[in-house]
Amino acid sequence: MTAPSSMAVLFDLDDTLINYSSAAAKERESVHRLVRPHLPADAMDGFWERYEGHLARHHVEVDTGRATVADYRESRLRHALEPWGKPSPALAAAVALCADMTAARVELHAGVNEVLGSLREAGVRLGIITNGPGSIQNAKCARLGLAAAVDTVVTSQDAGRTKPDAAVFHMALDRLATSPDRCVVVGDSWENDVLGAIRAGVGAAVHIRRPGTPARTADGVLGQLPRVDRELLELLEVRRGGN
Ligand SMILES: [Mg+2]
Repeated sequence: MTAPSSMAVLFDLDDTLINYSSAAAKERESVHRLVRPHLPADAMDGFWERYEGHLARHHVEVDTGRATVADYRESRLRHALEPWGKPSPALAAAVALCADMTAARVELHAGVNEVLGSLREAGVRLGIITNGPGSIQNAKCARLGLAAAVDTVVTSQDAGRTKPDAAVFHMALDRLATSPDRCVVVGDSWENDVLGAIRAGVGAAVHIRRPGTPARTADGVLGQLPRVDRELLELLEVRRGGN
């Protein structure tokens, strides 16, 4: 008879375990200050539209390792400034430094160490599944002690796919020797984490809602809860209520 696989919890990284959005907001302010002197007074809205549009269209390339971080940043700034000229090497370097600062600035959310410690003590296997370049995401995990606090970190670059693709979830579960129905996914993105987990056949998903985001429900979430050990869910619930 085969022994049952371990229970596991897979956590998203940005805005689930760490405060990515507030660090990214500071990056945006810094980039704004750097770029504004180079553009006409009424051009900043257009700049941001092009900058964010490039991010939306091309982030998968850098998140899966098909583009380098340096090339991606350079092409994003060049595209955003195109109607007004080319960025100088000094401006490109300064904007890139702003992005590096974001990775250096993020911090753990309160209670994360306690949650991870409690789950480990209970024998739960732990993983992080995160969209982003491996170099950046792994550096954040190492600096904040997360790499040592979990059993595996899977980036979209490792999987060659970005969440919500099931490949990311399945790579983490394979590394933890755990089956999907023995796993809970915790994340702040409804599409990438919750719906991705359900489509990957994961037992349950917990949605971390940032302030101001709407409550969401999906048939698959509550419908699949009984498949996961109640103790695991209660442990997560107790830790959440205790913070
Ligand atoms: Mg997130």
